[in-house]
Amino acid sequence: MNDVKGFTATARVYNFSPGPAILPQEVLERAREELLNWRGSGMSVMEMSHRGKEFTSIIQRAEADVRELMRIPAHYKVLFLQGGASLQFAMAPLNLLCGKKSADYIYSGEWSKKAIAEAKTFCAVNIAASSEDAGFTYAPAQDQWRLDANAAYVHYTPNETIGGVEFHWVPETGDVPLVADMSSNILSREIDVSRFGLIYAGAQKNIGPAGLTIVIIREDLLGRALPGMPSMLDYKVHADNDSMYNTPPAYAIYVAGLNFQWLKKNGGIAAMEARNIEKSRLLYDFLDNSRFFRNPVRKNDRSRMNIPFTLKNAALEEQFLNQAKARGLVHLKGHRLAGGMRASIYNAMPVEGVRALVEFMRNFEIQYG
Ligand code: PMP
Repeated sequence: MNDVKGFTATARVYNFSPGPAILPQEVLERAREELLNWRGSGMSVMEMSHRGKEFTSIIQRAEADVRELMRIPAHYKVLFLQGGASLQFAMAPLNLLCGKKSADYIYSGEWSKKAIAEAKTFCAVNIAASSEDAGFTYAPAQDQWRLDANAAYVHYTPNETIGGVEFHWVPETGDVPLVADMSSNILSREIDVSRFGLIYAGAQKNIGPAGLTIVIIREDLLGRALPGMPSMLDYKVHADNDSMYNTPPAYAIYVAGLNFQWLKKNGGIAAMEARNIEKSRLLYDFLDNSRFFRNPVRKNDRSRMNIPFTLKNAALEEQFLNQAKARGLVHLKGHRLAGGMRASIYNAMPVEGVRALVEFMRNFEIQYG
């Protein structure tokens, strides 16, 4: 389990950044090997025409691999877009409203807040459930959701990157399409794609470099964009052109493809999920037994990817960060909106990295607790 093939992190730091985030070392090494001359083409992937046969083979392989990894059904399109998850906050309503006046949103943290604010410029937003009452420290249970059967879609954020809240279940929305911002937990656990109408994710956490956004959309939801929309904002335009309506983020797609190959080689999503359970448990068990560190999230709703925590004495935060950095444990500062600390432990974070963090925290507590 600990021994992920090809992972030798010795010379590098353990990077707990929420994104752009750690990538498997083997992926970076492969990119380096192929940097100047991709497989005898005499060119870098950065220099290739996106319509040439070399890049066509790269994007097709990346799509086939992500389809295989996530078991994406044939009646779903996979799109490689730009603009980040933030552009999807607008593209989802612009493409799915289809004459309807409102959409349902689940308000579970800072990222759903942004999605809601953006949607409000295009339609009425019904907050079907919210955890604002408890500072976004839990995932509202399905029986608290007040869904509207006439909503254009239901939007939720399966993993709130800032608050560290994850839905460990997929909501039931009947005939209303379910839309998920999976930016920070895509590829980290097995999901049944057929339960969703639209999935989107910025790449810079579990997929690859920033600049790429992956969209997975059920085909019957294409072709519904509002009239007069810019072509670039219409999913159908991208789907009809196999993500080549314009120049796609070619190098980011290439590195994402290398990451998909790495995932396949290391047991696929099931193996990643088992490792993610093991890694997050290590850290949560430590936090729950500590009298100095604390995680505020309800136990059943804790994220396996992003683990926020506070120090009993906030005046020691800077010392904590400096000492961690000196031990090669970096990017542990919490989001500016949340304060405190946060460890993001995506697929590419080895178990050893989490062990090293726990060991450091244990010693810090002994010294200052
Ligand atoms: N949604 C979630 C859940 C996120 O974590 C992020 C980025 N941290 C975003 C949306 C925004 O993504 P982007 O920067 O790609 O627009």
